[in-house]
Amino acid sequence: MHRQFPRFRGGTVAVALSGGKDSSVALSLSERYFRGRPAVRLVAISVDEGIPGYRPATLRAAAELTAALGVEHRIVRAEEELGTTTDRTARELPGTPPCSFCGVWRRRLLNSAARAEGAQAIVLGFNLDDLAQTVLMNVVRGDLDRLARMAPHRVRQEGLVPRLAPLAQVPEREVYTYARLRGLPFDHGECPHAGRAARNRFREIVWSLEEAQPGTRQALLRTRERLLDRWGTAETPSAPGRCRGCGEPASGPLCRSCEYRELARPAPVPGSRA
Ligand code: SF4
Repeated sequence: MHRQFPRFRGGTVAVALSGGKDSSVALSLSERYFRGRPAVRLVAISVDEGIPGYRPATLRAAAELTAALGVEHRIVRAEEELGTTTDRTARELPGTPPCSFCGVWRRRLLNSAARAEGAQAIVLGFNLDDLAQTVLMNVVRGDLDRLARMAPHRVRQEGLVPRLAPLAQVPEREVYTYARLRGLPFDHGECPHAGRAARNRFREIVWSLEEAQPGTRQALLRTRERLLDRWGTAETPSAPGRCRGCGEPASGPLCRSCEYRELARPAPVPGSRA
């Protein structure tokens, strides 16, 4: 079931905070934007996927930033919520690029944590480059459902906290420059699994297209916007049902998070309703 966003009068806004530059800028700007509005409560949510040697440093940067800004900070751990971690699953599924399940789990954990906080929206740090790559990836795969479902969201769906992307028009380099100029604490580390991400190829393609034809990134985003205009709210092909494993929104019998859990280790999912 879809509903258009009601006018925002106040309430809780969650910000997904990884501790990297993009989400740190998103949190810093959100804090500045909502400062002086007592009706708005800001909460930063970090997901610990369980990647030793990488995630602990980013979580320390996230804690430093939230303390400096005076923003509440929650950390959700995959080990506690899903009973597994990205690193362990990477060993159990050596043929699967870790980003495929890690990204799904992070979205799942962010959504349930933001919902538990009563958040009306989740602010993401996605920049122009990120989103242009995602649009192209979905187009190349012919996956119109995902093209429609990807953030930023226009409509509210049952059980899914809408994800917003205020940096959608800001190139990655400008986000980085802003973070440095404001002296925001953020971590520069790279995930040890990042080299296997399908996104890497699309990053290069989008960048070479942008060099040959400036404005390509904006054009990719505009293409998605125009498609959404044509589909209209009711036709947006993303109405989810409920996962029989964990009860979260899903488009099939199981949500993708539980599908990956079952693939990795065919054991009952914690909190399973099945
Ligand atoms: S790079 Fe991939 S595996 Fe690493 S944190 Fe990001 S999504 Fe997870």
